[in-house]
Amino acid sequence: MFCYHCQEAKKNIACDTAGICGKKADVSSLHDLLTYTLKGLAFYAVKAAESGITDSNIDKFVARALYSMVTNVNFDPAVFVQLIAETVQRREHLKRLLSKSETVFITEEPEEAQWLYEKIDQEAFVKKGETVGVQAGGELSGDDADLHAAREMLIYAAKGLGALLEHIQVLDVFAPEHYVFMYQAVAYTLQKQRSLNELLAMNYKCGEQAILVMALLEQINIEKFGQPSATTVHLDSWDKPGILVSGQDFHDLQDLLEQSAGSGVDIYTHGEMIAAHSYPAFKKYFNLVANYGGAWQDQKTEFGKFQGPVLVTTNSLQQPKKGYTAKAYTSGMVGWPDIAHIEKRRTEDAKDFSEIIQQALQCEPPLPLTAGSVTVGYGRHALIALTDTITQSIKSGDIKRIIVLIGCDGRHKERRYYTDLVKALPADTLILTAGDTKYRFHQLELGEINGVPRLLDAGQTHDFYAVIAFLTHLQNTMQLEHINQLPVSFNIAWYEQQTILMMLAIFALGIKNLRIGPTLPPFFSPGILQKLTDELAVKGIDTPENDVAAMLEGE
Ligand code: SF4
Repeated sequence: MFCYHCQEAKKNIACDTAGICGKKADVSSLHDLLTYTLKGLAFYAVKAAESGITDSNIDKFVARALYSMVTNVNFDPAVFVQLIAETVQRREHLKRLLSKSETVFITEEPEEAQWLYEKIDQEAFVKKGETVGVQAGGELSGDDADLHAAREMLIYAAKGLGALLEHIQVLDVFAPEHYVFMYQAVAYTLQKQRSLNELLAMNYKCGEQAILVMALLEQINIEKFGQPSATTVHLDSWDKPGILVSGQDFHDLQDLLEQSAGSGVDIYTHGEMIAAHSYPAFKKYFNLVANYGGAWQDQKTEFGKFQGPVLVTTNSLQQPKKGYTAKAYTSGMVGWPDIAHIEKRRTEDAKDFSEIIQQALQCEPPLPLTAGSVTVGYGRHALIALTDTITQSIKSGDIKRIIVLIGCDGRHKERRYYTDLVKALPADTLILTAGDTKYRFHQLELGEINGVPRLLDAGQTHDFYAVIAFLTHLQNTMQLEHINQLPVSFNIAWYEQQTILMMLAIFALGIKNLRIGPTLPPFFSPGILQKLTDELAVKGIDTPENDVAAMLEGE
């Protein structure tokens, strides 16, 4: 096993015997084989798209398969065995279609597009996976290391892109224009002749694509759930039994709220789902009462204290503890062996959550955990409404700097940096955030500047788009040529492949002085880091005090 997909890779090098995340070696090997076969499928999907052959079923499947490998999404080997088998079957189907085309000539078929299995056999798949993983794909040191690392980064970004597309798919929207690029990005990793500059350019293109997909996701969320607005969210626990919903899937939350309304069961959000409180579609439900607990990594202690059932949607699942396994449920692509997965549907459009609701009615109310409240809901619309005040405050010197502090939380104790950083920021700084790193500081009393709260929370990780859209609007209002001319500093707390994509979006926008923490990605080879440093002044984090001083100087 060799995995350095995420920020928690062992010793910031790689997990080599078992994942810190809970991923076992066999699942890691199946991920490697799934990635390998998806590259082969992408090779043919690019050729098919060039000849006008498309298949929305394959498009949706590939996005879902890429997403399944994002850190903390799915740990069930049986799921990956099926995904690998389907990938090969769908690739062969495409191959047959293309063989009938008179305009497509395949001269060199990569080995990734050739591998076949005789029968579905988990053990054989694991063995094959052991031969095609990260280490088998190129040198990790030496001359080839930079190219290999850039190809790996592209695959991780494609997995992040698959996640964004799946978030859109579960909202019953299919946007065909984004899938061709997804295939191109995956298939690009097969082109061994590409230079480092070309590979990095493709990575940045992935970042550009992410901005387009995040914009679409924002639009769909607004159409389906209304315009988010600044909203106070309670953090305490109430007197009725509850169901805790974590992740990012608003569709699941809506189905659950609809089916539990009037049942006597309260619904609480956890982690990134806190953003739901700011949308009109969810505010109307009497039983959506509060947010319980902190970010995803706190689930092992918090889910047990909740006492009622927990539904994990989209991602951020950890190995469930014995104390609550019988009350844990997953949905969508999330899964853990032997944890109940919601498969049953109530209607074509809605999953059936009656089992969870019935179980909740037998449970005790949540134990007290946190208290107070926080404000969420500064989406693009709400941020842009503050433009005049923020512009005037910048001009008058009341706002000296805007700090964009986005990304995911995680287990490393070094992540205390983000709390200390926010505490060390002077009172004339504004903080824009998205994702769940905010749990490190969202309860701090930070005050206001000319009526604008110093902490503005745009929502989930992909709501980073709202931050970018607002800053672009601010830049235009202030008649500046580039975001870099605004008094703004970017700091990303990366964790998994969706935040790698956000990082690439920042690079693609040409934003300078990005700080990446709590550690630099282990797959940043020396050559990649040198290029990012030279061209964009990318850096790791220092002490909070040093970073605050540097950011205030525009560095
Ligand atoms: Fe390790 Fe992260 Fe890979 Fe899990 S996803 S095995 S924690 S590097």
